[in-house]
Order: sequence, then C-alpha cells, then structure tokens
Amino acid sequence: MSPTGSLSLDNPALKTPAFARLPSWTKEKLSPLAIKKIQDVYDWVEQECIPREQIMKAQLEGPGNRWKTPSLMHELREKAKDRGLFNLFLPNHFVESPGLTNLEYSCCAEIMGRVYWAAQTMNCHAPETGNIELLAKYCSEEQKKKWLQPLLDGTAASAYSMTEPDVASSDATQIGIRMRREGDEYVIDGRKLYGNCLWNKELGFYILMGCSAPDNEDRWKRHTMIIVPCATPGITQVRNLTIMGYDHAPEGHGEYVYENVRVPAENVILGEGRAFEIAQGRLGPGRIHHCMRLVGQCERAYELALIRCRDPAKKPRGRFIGEFDSNIERIAQMRLELDQARLVVLNAADVMDTLGNKAGKRAIAQSKILVPRMATRIIDECMQLYGGQGLTQHTPLPEMWTYARFVRVADGPDAAHRHQVGREEMKTAEGFRQRHAEYLRRYRELAERYGEKVVSFDYGNLE
Ligand SMILES: Cc1cc2nc3c(=O)[nH]c(=O)nc-3n(C[C@H](O)[C@H](O)[C@H](O)COP(=O)(O)OP(=O)(O)OC[C@H]3O[C@@H](n4cnc5c(N)ncnc54)[C@H](O)[C@@H]3O)c2cc1C
Repeated sequence: MSPTGSLSLDNPALKTPAFARLPSWTKEKLSPLAIKKIQDVYDWVEQECIPREQIMKAQLEGPGNRWKTPSLMHELREKAKDRGLFNLFLPNHFVESPGLTNLEYSCCAEIMGRVYWAAQTMNCHAPETGNIELLAKYCSEEQKKKWLQPLLDGTAASAYSMTEPDVASSDATQIGIRMRREGDEYVIDGRKLYGNCLWNKELGFYILMGCSAPDNEDRWKRHTMIIVPCATPGITQVRNLTIMGYDHAPEGHGEYVYENVRVPAENVILGEGRAFEIAQGRLGPGRIHHCMRLVGQCERAYELALIRCRDPAKKPRGRFIGEFDSNIERIAQMRLELDQARLVVLNAADVMDTLGNKAGKRAIAQSKILVPRMATRIIDECMQLYGGQGLTQHTPLPEMWTYARFVRVADGPDAAHRHQVGREEMKTAEGFRQRHAEYLRRYRELAERYGEKVVSFDYGNLE
C-alpha cells in the first residue's frame, strides 16, 4: 500500500519513466488500459520516433519531396496503427473511441510532444483531431461513412477553414465568405486564410465555415459548416503561408480564393445556419491538444538545456554553464513553470472528464492562455543557455519556440480567451458586493455590542 493508501500507486507499471512526472492524483485515475497505452506511446516515441528525427528531415529535403508526405511517415503510421496507437485522442464517450479519457490522453499527448511529428504517426495531430471529433459528433451516419471513417483509418487527410484575411476571425460572427444555395448545391465565393496547403496532394477536404444567411436577424444563425472536397473547381491557392519563416511542409498553411465553388448540399454538417452549434461543440479537447503536447516539447527543450549545462567542451571561465548560480536559478525556475503548466493542462482535461466540456470552458481557456506563454518563456531560456547554436538548426529549439508562439494565436488568440475569462469573472462581482455588505452590517452590529465606535472605511457603494 502506498503512503496515500492507494493500491493503484503501488502498481509496478507506474514506476517507469513514462509516469515519472505525473502527479499522484493523476496516476490514481488511470485505468489499466491507459497505463498500457501511456507506456506504449512512451516506447514508441523513444524507440521509433526520436532516433528517426534526422531521417524524416532528410526525406523532406530530397529533390521534389518538399510537399509530399515522406514515405517514413507512411511507414510509421502503418506500424503505429498495427500497435493500437491510432486515434487515442478521441474521448471514451464516442463509439469510435479507443477508450481513453481526456486525462489519460493528456499523459500520452505530453509524450508525443517530444517530437514535433510524433502525434501524426499516431493520427493524433491537428487539425485532424478537431475535425474527427467534429465529424463524429455532428455528422449523419451517411456522412460519417464517407468523410469520418477514412480519417479514422488514416487513409485521408482534412483541413479546417474558418479564418479569413478580411475580418477579425477570432469573432467568428464576422466570417464573411459567401455561401448561397442553388438547387442541390451551395455556391461559395470569397477568401480564406490558413487550413492546410493544397500542394500536398494527400489533402482530401476542408471543413469550411461560411456565411449562408447574412441578413438573418439572429447573428448566431447566419453561418453554416460544409465539407469542401479539395478537387472542387474554383478553389485557387494563392500561396503557402510561412510561420515565422518556416513553411511547415509537407502540410503547410494555404491562402485561398474561392470563385463559384459548387459543393453538394448533402455536404452540409448538421444543417444550414448551425455552424455556431458546431463551433460550441468544438470547444472541447481539441482546444488544448496543442497545450498537452507543448508540455512534452518543453521537457525535451529543458533536457537539451541541462545537457548543455554539463557539456565539458563549453566552460566559460573554466566552469560548467550549469555551475553559475544564475543558471542554477534559471533551471529551477524552468522546472517550476513546467510542472505548473502540466498541472494546468491535466486539470483542464480532468474537468472535461468529470463535469463536461461546457463546464470545462474556463479550465480550457486557462490552459490555452497560460501554457503557450510559459512554453515560449521556457524555450527562450533554453535557447539562451545554448548560446549561438541554440538559435540555429543545430538544435530543434527555434522550431520548438515557433510552435509555442503560434499556439498563442492558433485556435483563437490568448487575448480573446482572456476576454472570455475576464467577462465571466466580472459576473462574480455582484456576489462579492453582497458578501462585503454583509461583513459591514455584521461589523456595525458587533461594534454596538462591544460598545466600540464605528470607524468609517470604504468598500465603495454597497447599497
Ligand atoms: C500556425 C497557425 C495555424 C492556424 N491554423 C488554422 C487552421 O487550420 N484553420 C483556420 O481556420 N485558422 C487557422 N489559424 C488562424 C487562427 O485561428 C486565427 O489567426 C485566430 O483565430 C485569430 O484570428 P485573426 O487572425 O483574424 O485575428 P483577429 O481576430 O483579428 O485578432 C487579432 C488580435 O486582436 C486582438 N483581439 C482579438 N480579440 C480580442 C479580444 N476579445 N480582446 C482583446 N483583444 C482581442 C488580439 O491581440 C488578437 O491577437 C492558424 C493560425 C496559426 C498562427
């Protein structure tokens, strides 16, 4: 029996490095299936992904290969699928789920984050995860067969297309690309920004949000989600967007013009005017998958920094970099922040499991705001400890930092999430006013009983 009195913590399977950083309360909640999957994901990333990092890079850099999914990725995806490591992200309330809770998946996702592309080998990468969840939740059975099943099988690839260059897309009511119904089709005209790049021929379809009823008085009913096959005539990719200089090949991020793009009406998800119902439902786990992986990515960056701190070839003033007090403090600070980040993510996942995605809105926002910011700070410190090499391709640190930085904007900028949290917090003010009015009333009552003079002090107008 463990000191906490929990039998599960005595499980020898929990004593391996795969579980070393998890808090006890998380370990206690893991099912036998999850314990096995977490260990399998750990072994997969350590043995199959990390040693192949440079090979994946080399395959992409070969002549004519930039926008082709490397054969190594296909090979690893087949292997991961055979080992039962596919789609672990899909929470256990879906019939298609392999059976993990959000909390259990968080533990897997952190390990995946150690290699930028490891999640993709397990079909757990963005935007596929959010799209699969959306299709599983809102599609008809017919649509599921056609669009969802190939994604679950890993034989198709999809993109999510909401953002536009001409509006503030974090306020989705502004999405302006026009969709009008003509017979059995919708005709789409307008511009889109982001969503994977068409140069990769494996991309099959977009889940697009468009404006189908601009004059509807209810602004929450003006928009529709529709599946747009990439081969539909009238879609032009203007260019691939680079993210702080990285092209993110072979998936990329396209910029698109839609001109008279005709899509069958049967591709509408849930029904015309119901995009916001879907967007609400998409607020769940997909929102924090990036955060889960960022924790693992930071652990890796931190390990590189520690290695550098003890590198005998790099001794300014004859001392290890890790012997300077200022750097010992830096390492401590990084450790503290990393452990905080993990707790925030695990908490959000656990709230979703125990109270549901809607009740978890605040914990999800908390994670989305705090974790990418912490991650940029931690990786920045790691780069600094590395010196000049830390800013070059000698280390994966610049790519890691860029990933953490883009998560501050992707899936909604942190300012928008803070705005939402702050607005909810403001609603609690009335309760505090009443509570303080009661303190004051009771104070006056007690002052009278003790024969003390009431001293005036100011909580503001509590009437
Ligand atoms: C790497 C990457 C990948 C992406 N992938 C996709 C994708 O696959 N599909 C897709 O559709 N989109 C994608 N996006 C786009 C992303 O979701 C949007 O950029 C994001 O939602 C913000 O929309 P916007 O760019 O129109 O910025 P805006 O909405 O114009 O916001 C700009 C800024 O305004 C301020 N702001 C906004 N709202 C508030 C507020 N409430 N309070 C205070 N300040 C506020 C913030 O500073 C914010 O950063 C991706 C972005 C990145 C960086």
